[in-house]
Amino acid sequence: MNVVVVGAGIAGLSCARVLADAGVPVRVLERGRVVGGRLASRRYGGRYADIGAAYLVADDPGFAAVVERWRARGLTRPWTDTFAVHPGSPARGPLRWAAPGGLRSLAEDLAAGLDVTLEHEIQALPREADAVVLAMPGPQALRLGPPAAVADAARRQEWQPVITAVLAYPERAWDDFHGAFVNDHPVLATVCDDGDRRGDRAPVLVAHSTAALAREHLADPGAAGPVLSAAVGELLGIAARPEVHVHRWTYAQPAPVAGDYATDGRVWLAGDAFGKPRVQTAWLSGRAVAEAVLQSSER
Ligand SMILES: Cc1cc2nc3c(=O)[nH]c(=O)nc-3n(C[C@H](O)[C@H](O)[C@H](O)COP(=O)(O)OP(=O)(O)OC[C@H]3O[C@@H](n4cnc5c(N)ncnc54)[C@H](O)[C@@H]3O)c2cc1C
Repeated sequence: MNVVVVGAGIAGLSCARVLADAGVPVRVLERGRVVGGRLASRRYGGRYADIGAAYLVADDPGFAAVVERWRARGLTRPWTDTFAVHPGSPARGPLRWAAPGGLRSLAEDLAAGLDVTLEHEIQALPREADAVVLAMPGPQALRLGPPAAVADAARRQEWQPVITAVLAYPERAWDDFHGAFVNDHPVLATVCDDGDRRGDRAPVLVAHSTAALAREHLADPGAAGPVLSAAVGELLGIAARPEVHVHRWTYAQPAPVAGDYATDGRVWLAGDAFGKPRVQTAWLSGRAVAEAVLQSSER
């Protein structure tokens, strides 16, 4: 039995981790230069900012235990349960977890000791593997020509794009807040204080666009930067001009579908579409596939 996992996001890494721990030979192939997928931190001027997932929520006992082990090792920190709401007053929700080293450091930790090949884009299903796990958004999996039931499941997924703007200011020039949900705004969906989240108090905000703005700027994401920067300045009353970096997520947020994964023969589809669009869902989906692959190999 040997398994190829395509995609080194959280779903692929959690799947590979379970298989490797069970003694199954497993290779992870990732097209990017780093692991993590949408659990992404990028370095600007020597400091990491979180440009994909903004925080973790851990209400599954298994995932909560992992997050707690990361906390014990200094990799995660409880951030806040209170976000500002615009317009409106602050709202309490679940505890949100952040990572002092950037959220991608958690993917690096999951990947440690696994056989991961980076900068390796798969164009078609690997032939040699007994099981192939496509741990990625459905539209990306479809490009690899998966068998019918997996293709159908992938086609049923609906995705929204997001453009992220990292706004680096000369100094912290806003009233303290952790993060903010921005409702009914034409361009802004959320703003997080990255210095507060990471705990280093750097004067960096990270804004996520609405799907509408992202769709308008998919071909030229750079043009969304000034729009997001101006909207954040107006929302928080910041006069200073930040340095702006943008990142386009064509497949950022799925609408939830039922089940933990899809499968057809030796091919499996995992990812965060199988539940609320969260890191925890991707982690659970990857594990569920690994457990099903292990069971099928015992038959
Ligand atoms: C802007 C934004 C904000 C978010 N905010 C939050 C949040 O606050 N909290 C939260 O819990 N979640 C949040 N999420 C969602 C969270 O990031 C995802 O749920 C999770 O990271 C998905 O993991 P995944 O492994 O399913 O997919 P991905 O992370 O997308 O991993 C898929 C991987 O497959 C690789 N790949 C694709 N095609 C190929 C190929 N052909 N060959 C090789 N490799 C390939 C990709 O490069 C990628 O690394 C957010 C996401 C975005 C984009």
